[in-house]
Amino acid sequence: MSLARRLARPDILALAACDIAGAPLPGTIRLDANENPYGALVAGQAAINRYPEPQPQALRQRLADLYGVTPESLWVARGSDDAIELLIRAFCRAGIDSIAVVEPTFSAYAQFARVQGAEVITAHLADDFAFDADAVVAAIGEQAPKLLFLCTPNNPTGTAIDSADIERLAAALPDTLVVVDEAYGEFAEAPSLAPRATGNLVVLRTLSKAYGLAGARIGCAIGDPEIIDLIAKVSPPYPLPTPSIAAALDALGPERMPVHAERVTRLLADRDALAARLASVPEIERLRAGGNFLFLEVADPAGLARRLAAAAMRVRFRPNAAPGGVRITVGTEAENRAMLAVFGIASDKAPNRRADIIRDTRETRIALSIDLDRAEPRAIDSGIAFYDHMLDQVAAHGGFSLTLACSGDLDIDPHHSVEDIAIALGQGLKEALGEKRGIGRFGFALPMDEASAEVLVDLSGRPFARFDGHFATPSVGGLPTEMVPHIFRSIADSLGGAIHVSVKGDNDHHKVEACFKAFGRALRHGLAIEGRGDALPSTKGVL
Ligand code: PMP
Repeated sequence: MSLARRLARPDILALAACDIAGAPLPGTIRLDANENPYGALVAGQAAINRYPEPQPQALRQRLADLYGVTPESLWVARGSDDAIELLIRAFCRAGIDSIAVVEPTFSAYAQFARVQGAEVITAHLADDFAFDADAVVAAIGEQAPKLLFLCTPNNPTGTAIDSADIERLAAALPDTLVVVDEAYGEFAEAPSLAPRATGNLVVLRTLSKAYGLAGARIGCAIGDPEIIDLIAKVSPPYPLPTPSIAAALDALGPERMPVHAERVTRLLADRDALAARLASVPEIERLRAGGNFLFLEVADPAGLARRLAAAAMRVRFRPNAAPGGVRITVGTEAENRAMLAVFGIASDKAPNRRADIIRDTRETRIALSIDLDRAEPRAIDSGIAFYDHMLDQVAAHGGFSLTLACSGDLDIDPHHSVEDIAIALGQGLKEALGEKRGIGRFGFALPMDEASAEVLVDLSGRPFARFDGHFATPSVGGLPTEMVPHIFRSIADSLGGAIHVSVKGDNDHHKVEACFKAFGRALRHGLAIEGRGDALPSTKGVL
C-alpha cells in the first residue's frame, strides 16, 4: 500500500470527492451552480458572480514553475495556514492520531491539530535555539506521529534547519509525513526542498512574505501527487477567491520578478543592518536574525511594551519561546528608524528617496523599483538589449539604483515598450523625488568622444522636451533612432520636468549613447541633495 494511503484517515480514503459544479468548458451555458447570472456590481470585478475554479489551473502551473515542481504535486491553498490545516484534516483522526512540533515554533501547527482533536507531541530546539535532529527523534520515540512540522527558517527564532538533517529525519521516520514549512524560504540561504518533496517529505510555501500578498491568502503544499489528492479531498469546494487568484498571477508576472528579488535583497540587508545596530543595546540580551525578522530577548519586556505602545508600534512578544522573547518584522526604512528610536538609537540620515512603479497596458507590463540615494543594484530588462544598455547608462551616470523589467509586444514593434518604459521611468523619478526638498533641481552635461551631447534638465514640475539632432541610420541595436527624441519627451512628460537634448557627431551609436549618458549626468546634478536642509530650490515655494 502506498505511503499516502497507509497514513491517511481511512474514512477520508473511503469518502467520495466533493460533488460540485466544475469549471465550465468555454462556450457552455452555465446553469449548473445556482449562481446569479448578472455581473457583480463591483468595479472591475463583474465576473465574481461566478464561482472560481476549484483549483485554478493557470496559478497552479505558475506556482509549480516557480517552485520547480509539477502541477500534480502542488495544491494551491488559502495561504499556508490552510495547507497546514488541510494536511492535519486529511491525516489525523480525533483522539487517535498525533502531530509533532519542535518548540518554540509557529503556533498554528499545534492549534490546528487541537482543533482536529489530534494530540501534539513536543520536541525542543537546543538552549541556543539550534536544531538537533537526534533530540527530535528521541522526543518522538515510538509514537509515530502522522505529521512532523519543521519550520525553516523557524518562526520566531530564525533557526535554519540543515536540509541533510531534514532528509535524515524523513528516513528515520518512515511512518510520518515530514512537513517542511518554508514560509520564509526566499529569505534563507539554503535552496528550497520543494523539488525534493517526494515520499514522506512535504513542503509548504506562501506568497504572503516575499511576494507581499498576505492579504490575498495564497500558499501551497508540495508533495507526492497521492498526498496532494488527499488534500484535495478534504479541501472546501471553491477555496480561492477569484480576485486573489488574479492578484497572484499578476504579482508573479515575469516582469515583476526582478522587483521581488530586489525587495528580498533589500529586506535582508536592512535586517542585518538593524541587527548590527541593535547588537550594542544593553537591554537586548540575545539577538538573532532569520527570515524577514529579528528575534530579541530583552531584560524587561513589560518596559519595552510600554515604550512600544507610546510609539504606537506593534511587535510580537513571544514569552513561550523565551521569557523576554520579542519578534520584530523588518519594515520600511522609516518604520525601522522608528523601531530603532524605541531602543534609543537615533538615525540622522533621511530615508532614501525611492519608488516602486507598476504600469500595465494591453501592450506592455512594466515593474520598476528606483532608489535615488543608492547606486546599486541596476538590473534592466526592457526586452531590447541596446535599450537596456542605454537605461543602464542613465542610472549609472545618474547615480541611482534602477531595477526595471518589461513584458512587451516586441513581436509587433519596439515602439510600445520603448515609450512605456520611458513613461514609467519618468513616473518613478517623479514619485521618488517626492516633495523635492533640498535637491539641486538643475542639471547640465556636456561632450563625449567625437560625438557630443548636451543635456540640460530642470526638475521643475513642468513638462517640456526639446531635441536637436539627427540620426542617419534608422535603428541602433534594435532601438529605432526615431524613438530617441520620443523617449526624452516621454520621460519629461511623466517626470514633470524640462529636458533639452542636443547631439552632434558622426557615429549614430555614439550619438545615441552620448544622449543617455549625458542625461544621466545631468540628472545626477538635479537629483542630488545639496545639503541645504529641506529647502525647495524655487522662489515660488513649490516645484
Ligand atoms: N508558516 C509560518 C512559519 C508563518 O510564520 C506563517 C505566517 N505568519 C504562516 C505559515 C502562514 O502564512 P500564510 O497563511 O499567510 O501563507
